[in-house]
Amino acid sequence: MKKHNFSAGPCILPQQVFKEASSSILNFNNLELSLIEISHRSADFVAVIEEAVQLVKELLEVPSGYSVLFLQGGASMEFLMVANNLMKVGGKAGYLDTGAWSSKAIKEAKLFGDTQILASSKDKNYSYIPKDYAIPSDLDYFHCTSNNTIFGTQIKAFPITDVLTVCDMSSDIFSKKIDVSKFDLIYAGAQKNLGPAGTTLVIVKDEILGHTGREIPTMLDYKTHIAKDSMFNTPPVFPIYVSMLTMRWLKENGGVSWIEKVNQQKAELLYQTIDNSSIFEGSANIEDRSTMNATFLLTNTELEEEFNKMCTNGGINGLKGHRSVGGYRASMYNAMPLESVQALVEIMNELERKG
Ligand SMILES: *Cc1c(COP(=O)(O)O)cnc(C)c1O
Repeated sequence: MKKHNFSAGPCILPQQVFKEASSSILNFNNLELSLIEISHRSADFVAVIEEAVQLVKELLEVPSGYSVLFLQGGASMEFLMVANNLMKVGGKAGYLDTGAWSSKAIKEAKLFGDTQILASSKDKNYSYIPKDYAIPSDLDYFHCTSNNTIFGTQIKAFPITDVLTVCDMSSDIFSKKIDVSKFDLIYAGAQKNLGPAGTTLVIVKDEILGHTGREIPTMLDYKTHIAKDSMFNTPPVFPIYVSMLTMRWLKENGGVSWIEKVNQQKAELLYQTIDNSSIFEGSANIEDRSTMNATFLLTNTELEEEFNKMCTNGGINGLKGHRSVGGYRASMYNAMPLESVQALVEIMNELERKG
């Protein structure tokens, strides 16, 4: 039987997507050729990438004036591409520091100009989202991370600002409705909620590009990829294809508003179990808790061995917390069914009874 996969990334994708993707590896579109051996410029693959772009636009209701790209280098490459493309020569940017990924983005931005940390939750090991901070109006852009995969916190209300807003949505894109028009650039590594590792989704407002006064290497310039429809060089065909299949699955089932409800149900069930328990404790500030990654601890560490054993026997995979937080982390991305969270909760309740 398939395991209940709580892995933080690469992570679970719909079973139907795995099946379809594997058959396309052997024989794509009845071409008697594999998806991964045909030209990326063939009509069959061009149709895939065009559908993928179209599905992003549909599912997220992307307004006109934005380009949708599938790039390489992971979200980590965007840390430097964002600064390279948006920080003016002699300019400055403001960052919200809410975790390890934000910190890595800040490190790269510092290579390009004055990078200000507007607020940070590092003082409490990133267990909350800072809220009272000002965004100076003279920044070239403001950068935030919508969901902190490692620490289990999520921004519930984005700050209101006229400054260009960039958001790393790697671990909660497509998990809930967002208003794309409130952002100027959104990026997300595929492997958390979209597809396999190997491609990064970028949604960028065209008019914000080309104003830095700096020369940008060809591959790092968003304009290069916009001009060539993400095919300046060979695109990662398989990750793009699987991402397209995942978005088809999402659309067929009712889109983002449908999955948002399912994600809320899953998170509520798990957090209720944690809050009603005398042996488990949540790691993140309650009002900032992530619907995607729930971090929690056993208050009595002596129970860990028993809990780990029960999880293994119950087919629970990938629950170990990140080394910087410890404890446990249940990642409940879009493709995770409610049944998997129910299976985990049953084990937690059973341990509580034995406790
Ligand atoms: C996983 C993750 C990243 C890093 O993504 P890569 O594709 O491995 O570079 C960046 N930001 C967030 C929020 C993540 O969850």
